[in-house]
Amino acid sequence: MTMRVGIGYDSHAFGKKKARRLILGGVEIPHDRGLEGHSDADAVAHAVTDALLGAAGLGDIGRMFPNDDPRWKDADSLQLLNQAFLKVVEAGFQFVHADVTIIAERPKLAPHVDAMEAKIAEALLAGPAHVSIKAKTNEGMGWIGRGEGIAVFAVATLAQHGD
Ligand code: MG
Repeated sequence: MTMRVGIGYDSHAFGKKKARRLILGGVEIPHDRGLEGHSDADAVAHAVTDALLGAAGLGDIGRMFPNDDPRWKDADSLQLLNQAFLKVVEAGFQFVHADVTIIAERPKLAPHVDAMEAKIAEALLAGPAHVSIKAKTNEGMGWIGRGEGIAVFAVATLAQHGD
């Protein structure tokens, strides 16, 4: 059995429009602004998707779901994650674990971490123990510290049986 690890990163800026919802890890989080993006701008789902695709050597989310394609406008990123996951399984890999760090000055994300783990795990047809999500601030520094947007790092571990 071979183990493979992939890394994913994503960032999105907060929009000016108050109407946009803030979706992270498939969970709607009460906040005065949402993130800008072609899809629902779920940076957690996007970073996990890239980590999975990276571990499987299947490219990246932008290649699989181009952001100039109207099919992915306002798309539910958990569904994109699930579609990427199915490609990863098709390529002969088994999902083992994902670990995620969200960096956001506000809102406070700790109360939503359990719900995000459950949603991401569900998209990967796994139990919540297979997904770990942590949230921290940037200690007031730089664009994240000024509350201009959110950044997410993720790693995913896959197992490949056979060679
Ligand atoms: Mg993104």
